[in-house]
Amino acid sequence: MPIPDGRSADQARAAIQEALGQIGFTLPGSITIRRTRCGKPRCACAADPPSLHGPYIQWTRTVHGKTVTRLLTPAQYQAYAPRFASARRLRALAAALQALSLKEIARAEGRAKITPGTPAPPRTRPVRGPNPNYPAPPKTPGDQPA
Ligand SMILES: [Zn+2]
Repeated sequence: MPIPDGRSADQARAAIQEALGQIGFTLPGSITIRRTRCGKPRCACAADPPSLHGPYIQWTRTVHGKTVTRLLTPAQYQAYAPRFASARRLRALAAALQALSLKEIARAEGRAKITPGTPAPPRTRPVRGPNPNYPAPPKTPGDQPA
């Protein structure tokens, strides 16, 4: 959806901010639900058809730079699911706000688009020309004190 002018961009920004204001509690990380085999040859998980272990609900997140995984019970997962959904919504709204901001600076700079990650335009060096003050221009007779 193109943004024809700054006013509708402001309206789009206001809509995103309104939605951000509706965000409740959010939880970081992601959920992976696994059914596994234990490897014991006489276990039901090795039968044909197999009866796998689980489901194991793994909550993975980063704490102080380390990946931390915690198993959730189905009841915990049910209770926390809205908070993971809120976190996804928050990320989507942040991405929308950033995309809108990029469009706005592109519009302001008069460019078609700005792609994140592209290098900045090269800096222009001032072109050195003759310095009008060096050597000092010859004094004209009018500059002489009377
Ligand atoms: Zn097994």
